[in-house]
Formats: sequence, structure tokens, C-alpha cells
Amino acid sequence: MMSDWQELERKYFMRTFDRTPLTLVRGQGARVRDDKGREYLDFVGGWAVNSLGHCHPAVAAAVTEQVHTLIQTSNQFYTIPQVRLAELLVRNSCLDRVFFCNSGAEANEGAVKLARRYGKRYLNGAYEVITAIGSFHGRTLAMVAASGQAKHQQPYLPLPAGFINVEYDNVEAIKAATTDRVCAVMLEPVQGEGGVNIPHDGYLAGVRAWCDQRGILFILDEIQTGMGRTGTLFAYQQYGVEPDIMTLAKGLGGGVPIGAVLAKERASVFSPGEHGSTFGGNPLACAAGYATLKFMLDNNTPENAGRVGRYFISRLDDMKQRFPFIVQVRGRGLLVAMEFGGDIAQSVTAACLERGLLVNRVKPNALRFMPPLIIGEDEVDEAVGILEQALSGTAVQED
Ligand SMILES: *Cc1c(COP(=O)(O)O)cnc(C)c1O
Repeated sequence: MMSDWQELERKYFMRTFDRTPLTLVRGQGARVRDDKGREYLDFVGGWAVNSLGHCHPAVAAAVTEQVHTLIQTSNQFYTIPQVRLAELLVRNSCLDRVFFCNSGAEANEGAVKLARRYGKRYLNGAYEVITAIGSFHGRTLAMVAASGQAKHQQPYLPLPAGFINVEYDNVEAIKAATTDRVCAVMLEPVQGEGGVNIPHDGYLAGVRAWCDQRGILFILDEIQTGMGRTGTLFAYQQYGVEPDIMTLAKGLGGGVPIGAVLAKERASVFSPGEHGSTFGGNPLACAAGYATLKFMLDNNTPENAGRVGRYFISRLDDMKQRFPFIVQVRGRGLLVAMEFGGDIAQSVTAACLERGLLVNRVKPNALRFMPPLIIGEDEVDEAVGILEQALSGTAVQED
């Protein structure tokens, strides 16, 4: 039965989202409740945003205190939560400086502007950025051009110039595309929205070496992979490379919107007035970010994501025996995908929903799981149990 909220949404909201017919009203930990009082185990996690689960006490307390203290001032002034979060990020990453904004796309826009600024200053005006096919960097026009996915690009042609999309996981393709006009390479360490695509071991190191050889910048978009999602605070730590610029958003605010551009000192080439934001770095969002990151560091949350993620992946792998139409299970930490031999992800998602589990259909033939990083093996067991039932019931015929 359709609830009123969903009818009203269809009447008033732009038709941009292909929503699950579920109106959520509350959340706690890894569970959410709908407007009819039914509970669900949430393995969508706000699209990898709810890193500490829903309404985590540490985040809720920090936001509550800050909302009664100071919400927003503009960046004409210094504010304390912004500085505290910037310091904590720098101390726990390989980067030296931070700029805050409000979303992932905005963080990547900032990163590309920074790379162009660097190109103007040090690379004879080089401005092109090499990105990967299948990548996802956001929804602004420039980030649509950066994201190598035709379905996001076609409706909006012509796109802003200055992006070259090359094959992912192929260093030679990057080398072949590098001309004197190129100022940077921008990649996701693991492609998230593209289907949880994991590169071979030498890829990021190979790209790093090439960027060094050419004197161009290496930008890592860790908007989805960062903040503990893949089992370390940042994914680059697992690949033995350091980016010159890194972008964060999604999990950074524990559910509150915030994005960040981080850069090495030598790449921090903005001068006052060259970039900015009204809301970016506001005390409220930064208090949430600080509480989230501090909790993660104090409680080894990334480690938990790695350990529980390995358990989850092994349980999903075991399912391949019983369900031969599962062709691959892949993931890092708690960023995990299950790929099927046919386009059954829609019906599996619906069957999971019926049984109280929320999952994400990342492609017609693949599910993506992004549960909170604080879950334990018991919650994994529960999710796997529901998924098994869902697959038994629905998935044999390929729709
Ligand atoms: C989600 C995502 C973005 C875009 O973030 P928004 O906050 O939706 O603008 C960019 N890059 C990656 C890797 C993402 O996963």
C-alpha cells in the first residue's frame, strides 16, 4: 500500500531518484524504522555516509552542543570546530592542508580547481585532468565530465572541457593520454558507484610513479573509500601510495553533510580569494566531523570495518556454492559487491526489502553493501541469512 508521503513526493519532487517504496522516519545504529513502524537492517548506510550508524551518540551529542553554541558564521571569521577538524585530519593523513565544503562533488571541484591552479603556476598552463572510465566523481557539470560514465554524460552534452576518460586499472592508458596539457590524474582507489571495482595491486603505485615522472599531480577521490570504509582510515594506506590531493565527504560527518579537499603543502597553491564557500567548514558540520573522526580513531573503527568486512565477504563467497548465478563477490572492508550472471539485482533488492534488509542495486546485475562500520558479525549473519532467503525465493530465473 502506498503511503501519503510517497504520493506527495511524486507530486512535488523532481523525478531524479528511483526510490525504494519506503518512507524512513527513525534510525539507530544499523537499523532504521519506516512510517508504519517496521524495522529494517540497513546495509545501504546512506550510500556509505552513516559510517558510525544512525544517530550515533557521539555525533548526536556534538551536534546538539554545537547547535546551541554557534551554527554558522561565514569564513570571514575563524571558528574553532573547523580548526580542530582540520588538525585532526592532517595529523592522521599524509596531507598537510585542508579546505572544507559541503559535498563530494564540491570537494572534487575544489581539487580540480587546485590542480588547474598548480598547472597555471608550475606546468605552463596545463589544465587537463585524466580520469577513469566507470568512475564517479559527482553530479556538477565538471564532475559529470570527469566521471567516465556515458549514462551520466549523454543528457548534458556539451560538457565542460578538460577531462580525459581512460580505461580504469590500466597505467598504460594514463601514460598514453598524458600530454603537456595534463596537470593531474584523478582516481578512486576502489570505484564505488561504478560497481566496487578493485584495481590490481600495482595500479595506484604505477600511476603515482608516472605522476612523479611527469611532474603532474595525483588526486585520489576517497569520498566513498575514505573514513574507514575500506578497513584503513584512508584506502591509499593499503596501496603504499600517497596522493598529492585527496577528497573526502560521505562518511566524514557521520551523516551530516561535509566535504573536504586535502593537499600536500607543495600542491596547496590557492591564494586568498581564489576559492571559497559560504557554508563550507561551518561549525555545525565540523563539530559532527570532529566527533566522527575522533570516535573512529579512539575505537579503531576502520580496523573493525576491515575485520567484519573480511567475515562478510567470506560468508558471501560461501553462498556461491549454493547459488551458482552469483558470479563474483568483491570488496574492501565494508564496501562490498555481489555480482550475478543476469540482471536480477532489482528483484533481489525487493526480496531483501520484504524480509527486512536494505541493500543497494549498484548495477542491473550487482548489489552493493555499505553498512555502518560499527556493525559486528551478528549483524552480518542476520543480513546473510536474509539474503540467502531472498536469493532462494527470487533469483533463479534471470529477469
Ligand atoms: C558519492 C561520491 C561523490 C559525490 O558526492 P556527493 O556528495 O553526492 O556530491 C564523488 N566521488 C565519489 C567517489 C563518490 O562516491
